[in-house]
Formats: sequence, C-alpha cells, structure tokens
Amino acid sequence: MSMTAYRGRFAPSPTGPLHAGSLLAALGSWLLARHAGGQWLVRVEDVDPPRTVPGAIDQQLSALAAFGLASDRPVVYQRQRDALYQAALDRLLDAGTAFACHCSRTDLAEQHGVHHHCVARTERAQPAIRLRVPPGSVVTFQDGLRGAIRQDVHADVGDVVLRRADGYWAYQLAVVVDDGAQCITDVVRGADLLDSTPRQILLQRALGLPTPRYLHLPLLLDRDGRKLSKSDAAQPLDPDVPLPALRRAWAQLGQEPACLAGCSTVEEALAQARAGFAPDRLPPGDIRPDGGVR
Ligand code: GLU
Repeated sequence: MSMTAYRGRFAPSPTGPLHAGSLLAALGSWLLARHAGGQWLVRVEDVDPPRTVPGAIDQQLSALAAFGLASDRPVVYQRQRDALYQAALDRLLDAGTAFACHCSRTDLAEQHGVHHHCVARTERAQPAIRLRVPPGSVVTFQDGLRGAIRQDVHADVGDVVLRRADGYWAYQLAVVVDDGAQCITDVVRGADLLDSTPRQILLQRALGLPTPRYLHLPLLLDRDGRKLSKSDAAQPLDPDVPLPALRRAWAQLGQEPACLAGCSTVEEALAQARAGFAPDRLPPGDIRPDGGVR
C-alpha cells in the first residue's frame, strides 16, 4: 500500500465501557478517515491483562456498532499477536538497540523513574526489555492540530520499556508494531497520548518502519479539569439511545450542530456528519463540561 492512501484506526484498551471521551476519539478518527476517502480500522489493545475488565471488549465493540462506527477490516486483537511483537523485539535485541533490564521502580526512584543506565541491586527472574535511548534523542514532529511538537526523549523519558518484567508486552512496542503491520498512515487519538508519540517515532526508526502522520484530539475534562477516563469515573454511554451522544461528540469536535439536528437515525446522522465535516473547526484545546475549550 502506498503512503499516500489514508488508513486510520481506533485502538481502544478494554479497561471499561466506551465513554464520551472514547466516542470523541472514535468519531474524530472516523470522520478524518472518511473525509480523506480512507479506511478506518478498529484494533483492540488487550495486551495488559491486569487492567483488562471482563466483558469490556464486547461492550465496546457493540457500543461502536450502535454508533454506526464499523471497522473496514476484521477487528485485530493484540492478544493474538505475540509472534509479531517477539519478532520485533528479537530484531532490536540482535541489533543491540534493546537490552535486558533488572531495575525495579524502587531502584529508579532516585532518577525520578527515568532509566539511563542500570542501577539494579538484585537480579530479577525475568528482566524487562528496554529500548536504549541515547543522549541527543530529540524528536520533533508536526501534529495535525497542535503544530510542531518537540521532546528530548533521552532526558524526559529515558530507556523505553518494550516488554515488562511481568512478561507482558508494553503498549509502546505493540502500538508501533501494529501501526506498522497494519500500514496505518494517520494516527488520530486523544491528546493524553501526545507525550508517547516521540518515543513511538524513535521505536519506528529503530525498527525501520515509516512514521505516520499524527493528530491528537482534544480531551474531555471533568468538572475538576481532569481527563475523563474509562477506568475511573466516566459515565458509560447508552448504546440504546445513540443519537444524543453522537450529537454531543459532533459538537465537541467543533462541528456545526445544525448539521445533525434533523436526523432521526444513526445512519442519517453519520451521512450528514461525513458531508458536513470541517477539519479546520476541530478545537485545538481540551473541552470543559460546559462545552468551552481551554
Ligand atoms: N489503547 C489506547 C487507549 O485506549 C490508545 C492507543 C492509541 O491510540 O495509540 O487509550
């Protein structure tokens, strides 16, 4: 597939039911994909069993279906992709860009959790595997909404965990391998992941993968100005009454509310949304509960 064709994705973690913040990311990424005449894929990021909530995968997928947001390809589950992640890890280990690390959180506390070299006092039965991030690893990229973003990954993040000491794959490795394997050209997701993008770009480079375009959508804030999150207080959406939530997400994306006002079905609303979507109206700041942007 050529890099000029657009392929986007929505990649929820099954840590709870779909809520207003995840609908915003799903609808925003779907609208941008459709606007570009591209494809939109759903990938379930279930690589973190301790945080997986039983039933959340089915709940999220049926909620997406109720909102009319269907993956253009069969849904991919990260739990089934160990071999791909292992192959990527082996390549990095062979190249010497990844290494086994016995450091615990306590060991790294003095460095504020940032790993620059191993300081482990004891050997673990199963070490973590980290990507080596040498000094000078400064990454800049152009975010579709927020403009130029720059991060000194060595100073701010340090060596990145690829496989955790509990044996599970780290999100950072799985997401980069899958965005590459699925030929994703455009990553559209919540701004809570903005900080992860530079390390993902470093990892893409280490694996010889292309870097997609990135756009980080505004986050929904609660009354205290904190991000709504599916794992805590966020109210789940009611998939039996999808239109009000769809209209709310449309307006939160800065779009003209009148576009969806007369619709009586989800199909109609999505058709209108596709026709009326204006990417230049996407708000650059996070969204307060009263609808204001900050
Ligand atoms: N799985 C992540 C989440 O649910 C999103 C990852 C991504 O879009 O890169 O927050």
